[in-house]
Amino acid sequence: MYSWCKTCANWKKELEAPSNMRPPAGTQAQWDKMTSWEWPASPANIVQVFIQPGFNTIHINLLDLSTSLSILRRCARVPPNTTTVADALRELRNGIVHAGTLKVDDSTRDDIFENIRNLLSDNDVKPSIANFDSVMENVNKLANGKLERI
Ligand SMILES: [Zn+2]
Repeated sequence: MYSWCKTCANWKKELEAPSNMRPPAGTQAQWDKMTSWEWPASPANIVQVFIQPGFNTIHINLLDLSTSLSILRRCARVPPNTTTVADALRELRNGIVHAGTLKVDDSTRDDIFENIRNLLSDNDVKPSIANFDSVMENVNKLANGKLERI
């Protein structure tokens, strides 16, 4: 039987609080598979608390967009709209990559650029982009095939 020391139990209680973890994530978390003693050492260790049930909680690849989005979706501190707009872009990206040709028609291209603009303009994403106007200008040039060498 898995038992929790006082420190880990306090961390668990805080992490699964509704202000931090979106229900029903707390009840689905695989608490017995977590290295709770590592939580205080680094935020990278805490992501295992928010990983989807069934995922490997030890080797988490945060560079994988799908993994990162699934973690953010379960975190109550991340507004739902941010992951929704990112998900739309991820689905378009996966559709192109999995098709193998990397070619898209005009309609798909327009959808992609609309989704890029939506994600960059999201209220929680935009403040993290220092030169937002310049980025949007280049996205628009790229969408119109008019991006020159930078
Ligand atoms: Zn402990």
